Amino acid sequence: MIQQILFIVIAGGALLFAARQFLQIKKKISLGQPEEIKGDTGERIKNVLLIALGQKKMFKQWVPALMHFAIYAAFLITQIELLEIFFDGVTGAHRAFAPALGGFYTFVISTIEVLTFFAFFATIIFLVRRTLVKPARFTQTEMQGWPARDGILILLGELVLIAGIVCMNGADVLLQKLDPAHYPDTGTLAVSSWLGPLLFGGLSQQSLVVVERFGWWLHILTVLAFLNYLPISKHLHIVLAFFNVYYSRLKPRGEMENMPEIMNEVKSMMGLIEASEADMGAELPEFGAKDVTGLSWKTLLEAYSCTECGRCTEQCPANLTGKKLSPRKIMMDIRDRTDEVAAGLAVSEAVAPADFDDGKSLFDYIASEELHACTTCQACVEACPVMINPMEPILALRRYEILTESKGPADWIPMFTSVENNGAVWAVADPRDGWTRED
Ligand code: SF4
Ligand code: SF4
Repeated sequence: MIQQILFIVIAGGALLFAARQFLQIKKKISLGQPEEIKGDTGERIKNVLLIALGQKKMFKQWVPALMHFAIYAAFLITQIELLEIFFDGVTGAHRAFAPALGGFYTFVISTIEVLTFFAFFATIIFLVRRTLVKPARFTQTEMQGWPARDGILILLGELVLIAGIVCMNGADVLLQKLDPAHYPDTGTLAVSSWLGPLLFGGLSQQSLVVVERFGWWLHILTVLAFLNYLPISKHLHIVLAFFNVYYSRLKPRGEMENMPEIMNEVKSMMGLIEASEADMGAELPEFGAKDVTGLSWKTLLEAYSCTECGRCTEQCPANLTGKKLSPRKIMMDIRDRTDEVAAGLAVSEAVAPADFDDGKSLFDYIASEELHACTTCQACVEACPVMINPMEPILALRRYEILTESKGPADWIPMFTSVENNGAVWAVADPRDGWTRED
């Protein structure tokens, strides 16, 4: 009974605290500008199934993709066992689902064990890769400090989870023979049926009970800790990637968002629409974005969905040629600045997000040099396994700098003047479309 009360208090408290943190993430994302996401629901669901659930884009590199998939599949299917752990924790039962499900129970737990077995090796390889091999994409400037520790912490957490399962199932297999009245028959489990006797074979019944309970509590406490750790970790992507993929753009890759105010003005100058239609008299809005509150909520969702994998930076031609730009850093900067703005707003709750001013902006995080290095090639968009578009915020910041602040690299200014005066990047006096006329 004491164990049940303890479980209900700990699990209930942890779930409530996690729910509060997830609501705060939602609030942070809603600091962004409204953006209506349109498009085919069927195609969006297909994207979620293929890209978020099936991890289709990861399979461009088979070896890391398979290892990642082993960990991910183990994580997904372990949720079934978690249901039983919660049920047992609240009711005080032991393996309550085993008698009811019979052979199917053996199949499910065995599948979990086999996937956990592969996940163990994948985790060790990922740990060795992060701590000893250190590929370039894990050692770049933005990955120093907390991001590097975050990656390692979660891998160590996975090992603790696996240790919990091994103790829990391994000791249980032996207890089923010693005390069948209290330990329901799980059938022959794929890993524990041989690993249990190998690890705990010589232990007394009392010691086995301690090992089994230790594994059970270790597993559930690590799960609850992980749930509360997610909102401050890059591993938040295991939840948000599904939403991010669902809301991702369905348009062809190279298609950039137009700015209606400018498009209408240009159309009016070219006589394609009436001036009244273009609403020329209206006060022009601020172009682009200066801070996270000027970006779309979708971009903020992307920032919180970023896995910090660095595949975008690895493919970015600007980064590859030694420029300062790293699309991964752009997304990490947006997330960090959103956290900062949200913290500031929490202190001064009466202030509307759009009016928030702490004397800083995204330009304190992202240098003009980074923005100017982007070639808008979309290689980062293509590379991202969770459909993040780092180019969108780069364009929004660049538009703010150039159109709202009339700043920009000195080399670009003559080109802008030519476009404005001649409709072409070259300072040619003749109309560009003269060749299309017959006379
Ligand atoms: S669009 Fe810009 S940030 Fe993305 S890969 Fe190309 S140059 Fe790099
Ligand atoms: S933007 Fe995408 S590719 Fe780049 S680090 Fe984040 S998840 Fe990886």
